[in-house]
Order: sequence, then C-alpha cells, then structure tokens
Amino acid sequence: MKIVQEDFRLSSKSRTQMIDITSHVDSVVRQSGIANGDAIVYCPHTTAAITINENADPSVPHDVLLTLEELVPHHRPGYRHSEGNSDAHCKSSMLGCSEQVLIKNKALSLGTWQGIFFCEFDGPRSRKVVIQVRGE
Ligand code: ZN
Repeated sequence: MKIVQEDFRLSSKSRTQMIDITSHVDSVVRQSGIANGDAIVYCPHTTAAITINENADPSVPHDVLLTLEELVPHHRPGYRHSEGNSDAHCKSSMLGCSEQVLIKNKALSLGTWQGIFFCEFDGPRSRKVVIQVRGE
C-alpha cells in the first residue's frame, strides 16, 4: 500500500464559514498516483471541522451554519471556558475533525451533490488541512 500525505493552508473570512475544499482534495488524489483506496481529510484544530454535504446550492451550507448557531449559541450562561469560544469547540466535536472518502479509478467516490467542506467556527484565521491518500 502506498501512502501520500499533504498539508495545505486556507484563510477563513468570517467567524463561521463553510469552505468547499473538494477540488483541492481531488487534485491531491490525482497527483498521488493512487487509483484505488481512500483519502482522509483531517483538520488539526479544536474550533473547526470537516464535513461532507451539498455543494451545489450555497443555501445548504448557509442553513447548516444557521442551524448550528441556533443549537449552540455563541454566548450562553454556564460556559466556563475563558476564551469565549466554547460554541466553536462544541461545534467542532459535533461535526468531527475528519472525513474519509473512497477512491475508485483515481476519482473521489462522492455523490453527485456532495462536496467536502472545511468548517470554520472561530475565524477569521489561518488554518491547516491535512490530506492522506492511501491505496494502490
Ligand atoms: Zn477555546
């Protein structure tokens, strides 16, 4: 089995934002030379997440962020964490810091409407995403 790992940085532009990174992951997969296997997309941050959802209609990421905001308010009585970003930590754990996508014939096996998103919950700031492609 061959393993190729690559990091890249991105800059979020607002406090909460879903950034479509599908084309970047796709290019890492194509350059890896791996035809069949999987790709793990990972973010090494405690106030961000990786998720897969619809990237055809920009209203979808908007509505996901709106719903998370309602479920997990920025300020709430009872929060103890002194940084003031407890909501971002909670959202990070709810969505998780990685996704795994299967690769078949050098292409990501995503559904027609699926895209891979980096989710910012405490921006704007510079972030890192790690992609590991494994297979043959
Ligand atoms: Zn914090």
